[in-house]
Amino acid sequence: MLRRRVTVLGSTGSVGTSTLELMDQAEAAGTGAFQVEALTGGANIARLAEQARRWKPKLAVTADPSRLGELREALSGTGVEAAAGEGAVIEAATRPADWVMAAIVGAAGLRSAWAAAGTGATLALANKESLVCCGPALIKRVRRSGGRLIPVDSEHSAIFQVFPHNAPHQVRKLVLTASGGPFRQTPREALSDITPEQAVAHPNWSMGAKISVDSATMANKGLEAIEAAYLFDMPAERIDIVVHPESIIHSLVEYVDGSTLAQLGLPDMKTPIACALAWPDRMEWPAPRLDLAALGSLTFEAPDERRFPALKLAREALQAGGSAPIVFNAANEVAALAFLDRRLGFLNIAAVVADTLSRVTASGVDSGSSNACDAALAVDSQARREAESIVRGLAAAA
Ligand code: NAD
Ligand code: MG
Repeated sequence: MLRRRVTVLGSTGSVGTSTLELMDQAEAAGTGAFQVEALTGGANIARLAEQARRWKPKLAVTADPSRLGELREALSGTGVEAAAGEGAVIEAATRPADWVMAAIVGAAGLRSAWAAAGTGATLALANKESLVCCGPALIKRVRRSGGRLIPVDSEHSAIFQVFPHNAPHQVRKLVLTASGGPFRQTPREALSDITPEQAVAHPNWSMGAKISVDSATMANKGLEAIEAAYLFDMPAERIDIVVHPESIIHSLVEYVDGSTLAQLGLPDMKTPIACALAWPDRMEWPAPRLDLAALGSLTFEAPDERRFPALKLAREALQAGGSAPIVFNAANEVAALAFLDRRLGFLNIAAVVADTLSRVTASGVDSGSSNACDAALAVDSQARREAESIVRGLAAAA
């Protein structure tokens, strides 16, 4: 039976909730036993309190300091310590645990992922933005602390499972699959009128709002190409993207001898989470089974960079190196949130990213430095200010 002492950062979100549900299912099936050290959430106090009542962590944290009273009240009599604010989230991340799930969304998850990376725990990383902002330094930090980083993003989990970790020279290419999002077949002219409701309605995956918008613009696949480059030490030229609308093949590794290995599964985040939770072992849980005969066929097509310019921008940012990926990420986050707030049109998301990249000079972030996280966050703030001013300019012109 799998036993783990676990902390979940971002436990109230889509990945966080799936993580706790998976643990619950494994306990019910008698295949896992979990002790929860800390849980952190945001404004959804009701969900955080419900999770804390179920799992009895030592500490439950809301990132929002104005909600501490509410959380304390909701947890009264449970013996669970309540705390609030960014400092408390970091305190939760550094508490002793075997396994820490980093599932906060956006660059807001960087400091806590960085903190957990220094503890020697296994870091299950869903927060792709922290890898994009600080990948090489974060990976080094986990290694130095004696911990291990396991990717949770389904594509990277797939590659991780079929990658020859002891013989990386055997790899010719990584191939990331992309669902193509809800607008895979939408003509460019129709994209300008897309609403937030249409953009967050993903055909295959149920996810948080920001990543759903990223999926619709395909900035998500751009972020994932950068993530893959850092995780598997691969240059941009050796990372391909193929659109695969069924989301059954989660990614592939092409070897030098022409053999290509893939990982398959139904599009359910609990499978890559289970892989990260048990690695290098495997855990049984009541997973839905893949029935290839019932599916009948799997299809593939090339991505269209004309309709989805974020793909090209991400590749260019990766090739430019230095802090360009941080700028890409910050501008994309600002633009995606402005779109969700109806302050920016769908096609202008990529326009804001392109403009921010051209205005903010890419400086290097020393990947070996112990304050690489602070350095990345300084670039992140600068790029955010620039992107916000571009968004305001576009809104004023509209
Ligand atoms: P979500 O929006 O559903 O949840 C985000 C979590 O972060 C919530 O618990 C929220 O309270 C917390 N949070 C938000 N802002 C915060 C802040 N400033 N400080 C502290 N906590 C904060 O997001 P999600 O879809 O679960 O995605 C989480 C991460 O996992 C993202 O980086 C996303 O790209 C990645 N990811 C998600 C999926 C998916 O299927 N949802 C798949 C692959 C990767
Ligand atoms: Mg993914």
